[in-house]
Amino acid sequence: MLKFTLLSLVCAAMLAAQDSDGKLRIIAFGAHPDDCDIRAAGTAAKFAALGHHVKFVAVSNGDAGHQTEGGGALAKRRRAEAIEAGRRIGVTYEVLDNHDGELLPTVDVRQQIIRRIRQWNADIVLAPRPNDYHPDHRYTGVLVQDAAYMVVVPNICPDTPPLRKNPVFLYFEDGFQRPNPFRPDVSVSIDDVFDKKISALDAHVSQVYEWLPWVDGLFDQVPKGHAERRQWLASQREPGIGPAVRKALEKWYGRDKAARVKVAESFEVCEYGRQPSEDDLRRLFPMLGK
Ligand SMILES: [Zn+2]
Repeated sequence: MLKFTLLSLVCAAMLAAQDSDGKLRIIAFGAHPDDCDIRAAGTAAKFAALGHHVKFVAVSNGDAGHQTEGGGALAKRRRAEAIEAGRRIGVTYEVLDNHDGELLPTVDVRQQIIRRIRQWNADIVLAPRPNDYHPDHRYTGVLVQDAAYMVVVPNICPDTPPLRKNPVFLYFEDGFQRPNPFRPDVSVSIDDVFDKKISALDAHVSQVYEWLPWVDGLFDQVPKGHAERRQWLASQREPGIGPAVRKALEKWYGRDKAARVKVAESFEVCEYGRQPSEDDLRRLFPMLGK
């Protein structure tokens, strides 16, 4: 008990120190080491460039995501790729040691997430929606939703001090239509950091040049040279902007600027955390409109 109390005091002091620089603290959860990058590397790079603190967490270690490799060796390779991707955009990357393809919304994994959100003293939490083709993605969405209230409850995970202020939780963009389509509450133009985003994705060699093209039947198209394959990667990652995102861009950037945006990352406010006003969102996403 005494040990827990001392630990809590040390953690509280660390949180107070983190608070004192006046910068925002953002934590993003993806099921696999590359999911956060795919959905939010551009926005994360913008936060980091402004001096804000961003952490990406992969909830599983990715040990099933390859056609010829697997297990501990693959998990080790993917952890190194993730850390390098984070380094390239100024983001801290942590990979949790849960098996890929077997993630379940258990109390144990929920507690791993609650502790990470508290330790980061998050203002913003990003995660997938719980509608997705991949069970690990779905359950990551459920797990973060399940943590959204518990992060302020002192009797849950009492070894890690609770947050006194519930963060704002937002979902990454996806294309799933059922039970309801994604709603872009916040859309960030990432044109000026698109190259950085590609640089982060380029670090996930086992995924973007090996596993994903293989599983999509595009493996033969991946160029051999580094510059060529990076250019190919960039060409794969410009999905275009649909009407809902264009409308959100108009809201935050004005019609003229919004019309010129080529690549954006969008987020939907989750109903379970703190509910932000429009002014709150402008404060939490200071790159909007710029
Ligand atoms: Zn994934």
